[in-house]
Amino acid sequence: MNKGFLVIISAPSGAGKTTICKRLLKRKPELVYSISTTTRKPRRGEKTGVDYFFLNKQEFEKKIKKNQFAEWAIVHSNYYGTLKHFVDRNINAGRIVICDIDVQGGEKIMKVYPQAVKIFIVPPTWEELEHRLRFRATDTDNVIQRRLKNAEKELKYLKKYKYCVVNDSVSIAVKHIESVINSEKLMISRLKNINNFFKKG
Ligand code: 5GP
Repeated sequence: MNKGFLVIISAPSGAGKTTICKRLLKRKPELVYSISTTTRKPRRGEKTGVDYFFLNKQEFEKKIKKNQFAEWAIVHSNYYGTLKHFVDRNINAGRIVICDIDVQGGEKIMKVYPQAVKIFIVPPTWEELEHRLRFRATDTDNVIQRRLKNAEKELKYLKKYKYCVVNDSVSIAVKHIESVINSEKLMISRLKNINNFFKKG
């Protein structure tokens, strides 16, 4: 049997990471999505244990003190984090866990899981990223400029990752990520009890 492992997927905002991750999980139901924990209120239709694990501030802070997060951050005045226990439980059960995370969270979590598969998604060109951010945003020019500046900073994290997938077409990008995962599954270091395999009788 294969050992489980973590796949960290990051991208500059506007590169299409979330769409790609959703498509990947639909195509490969054996993959487990890393469900984050947050203190923000659930939006309509969101369920705890499906979209997020929803906790109050005190509960979250207690877990920080107990060192139960592989990484955490404050985003828009709310806490968000990845519970180490959730990732470990699934990896130990031989599963592949997909962590869709921003570059800063990615940098923290790769220190806790140095054997993780690190994939960075990029847009085909800078012009295309600019177009996507403008197309998506109903924001003012100032906000768009800020997002572009952010994307420029986020792109600098590329060298911390092992694989780079260009999102020119979502379906091709998903196939590339599947290929990476399939190859990583074959790594000798990811095989369980390999020595027993060669033992006679
Ligand atoms: P939302 O509340 O809209 O679902 O997410 C808000 C932000 O929180 C997004 O930028 C998302 O990437 C970030 N986020 C969600 N889960 C986590 C997590 O586990 N860790 C960190 N560091 N950020 C997260």
